[in-house]
Amino acid sequence: MNTPLTSHQPKEEKAIVIGGGIAGLLTARVLSDHYEEVIIIERDELPQEPSTRSGTPQAFHPHRILPRGSMIMERFFPGYIDDLLVQGAPSTQNEKMSLFTSYGSLQMVPPEKNASSSRALLEWTFRQRVQQISNVRFLSKQEVTGLQTSADQSQVTGVHIKERSEQKQERTVTADLVVDTSGRSSKLIKWLEAMGLEVPQPERLKVSLGYSTRYYRIPRHVKEKWGGVVSEAQPDKGIGTGMLGYIEDNMAQTLLFSAGGAHYPSTNPEEYEKELQALATPMISEIVKELEPMGVPRGYRTPESVRQHFEQMEDWPAGLLVVGDAFCNFDPIHGQGMTVAAIEAEMLDICLHEKRHTSQSHFERHVLQRMQEAIEPAWWLSSVADLRWKGVEHVGAEPLKGVSFAQKYFNLYVKQAVKLANEENNPSMFQQYFMMNALVLSPRDIINAHTLNMLLTGNGSLEEKQLLAELGNVDEQQIQERLDELIPSFSLAVDEKALHSFPSIPLSNTKA
Ligand SMILES: Cc1cc2nc3c(=O)[nH]c(=O)nc-3n(C[C@H](O)[C@H](O)[C@H](O)COP(=O)(O)OP(=O)(O)OC[C@H]3O[C@@H](n4cnc5c(N)ncnc54)[C@H](O)[C@@H]3O)c2cc1C
Repeated sequence: MNTPLTSHQPKEEKAIVIGGGIAGLLTARVLSDHYEEVIIIERDELPQEPSTRSGTPQAFHPHRILPRGSMIMERFFPGYIDDLLVQGAPSTQNEKMSLFTSYGSLQMVPPEKNASSSRALLEWTFRQRVQQISNVRFLSKQEVTGLQTSADQSQVTGVHIKERSEQKQERTVTADLVVDTSGRSSKLIKWLEAMGLEVPQPERLKVSLGYSTRYYRIPRHVKEKWGGVVSEAQPDKGIGTGMLGYIEDNMAQTLLFSAGGAHYPSTNPEEYEKELQALATPMISEIVKELEPMGVPRGYRTPESVRQHFEQMEDWPAGLLVVGDAFCNFDPIHGQGMTVAAIEAEMLDICLHEKRHTSQSHFERHVLQRMQEAIEPAWWLSSVADLRWKGVEHVGAEPLKGVSFAQKYFNLYVKQAVKLANEENNPSMFQQYFMMNALVLSPRDIINAHTLNMLLTGNGSLEEKQLLAELGNVDEQQIQERLDELIPSFSLAVDEKALHSFPSIPLSNTKA
């Protein structure tokens, strides 16, 4: 749990969180330790039971939490996994999961306690916890329409809100801190520009991605027989990702994904079934034959993922922060969004604790900078993966470092990791790779001179040749230097205090 506050560390007065999604709930939980009063302003009516709502249309689609996110969420909401299990979310502990990569298949049996739920149940569970915090209150069916500022516009002092009812009453709520967590539809840029501020161009990953999700009822025996399935994309062959997972109320979800815009997964039931069959493995298609479809597939498309660079604004106003998708959003296939929101919320907590002891000028800009550093691996890893698709493009003030090299490196790494797991029953290499994508390990824990030397076996495989071509002519002594030149260091991404607050990093005993 967080360090308790002592009496000589007075809390600040009032904070407002715009939006009651996952980022909003995590942020409010953090702020409740540092502010006398926290108000979450949400434009939707809060559902009386776990259900999707219009403000979060993405909630229809599968939402999984990466291990790093799960660790942080357990810290902020201890026992939340038990809450999910009690409400009917299936346990994933010791449950079989089949993974199909370009280099062969693996079976994983995660040993740690976890639950697989719909996004609606997860959000409901967190909201129940936040509703129990005495100094947090919700204002629902209220839309934030703008920011209130000081006369010189250097400080945000509150928000203007409009009731979402027939009366459409408008009023202003003042606060010492306003945190925007209103997601992809955030109006923050418009509000900043209205204050006369120049907002830097964000980085954009022009990903043109498509999702299609279908729900099924499952006869009991099916889950035991098959377990969950992930069929990874093979962009060079134009094959998309497919997933099958189980959630509460005896339901399964299947998902089709592709990027690059050449093809979007179908929402037509017959076409959808055919596309399941055309995945790298026909396994999901085989399983759904034993399931009972619930309605037709529903799609989701987005042209781009966006990473704002508000930390570059020297005139960023005091009293304003932003967390979650409004700050940086991702290709959802990598399952990073909620985990990144948790990483940002945790960084906010660390910064607010530090502020108690050392006063800081430009505190808000400093927080944005630290969050930006913390989420760099997530942005880089998902971009490296998505840029394998023809038609995907990164646009930013600076090019992304090391993309082509990392793609070749991961190809060779996964090939050898799968071989080691299957032929020698040794999952260690694959575990490391999994934990990097889970945002627990830094990419530099995988991409380093020691591992590279191990990967280069001299067997003349295509993957090895391609990697050597990227590496160029370097001798053994120069390899580290060359890697430093090619790959970002990510040295500021992991805050030591954050990691030390976990008892240990539980590397999953993934079984091949
Ligand atoms: C198809 C899809 C699948 C995804 N799958 C995963 C996954 O598997 N794992 C994962 O970690 N992430 C996933 N994500 C990302 C994830 O949904 C988000 O990253 C995460 O929920 C954090 O979002 P947020 O809280 O910032 O925004 P949101 O969850 O979108 O919440 C924003 C909230 O703000 C409210 N709001 C908006 N404007 C206003 C306003 N003006 N006034 C008041 N309230 C307002 C909205 O009603 C909403 O409640 C997926 C996303 C998509 C699109």
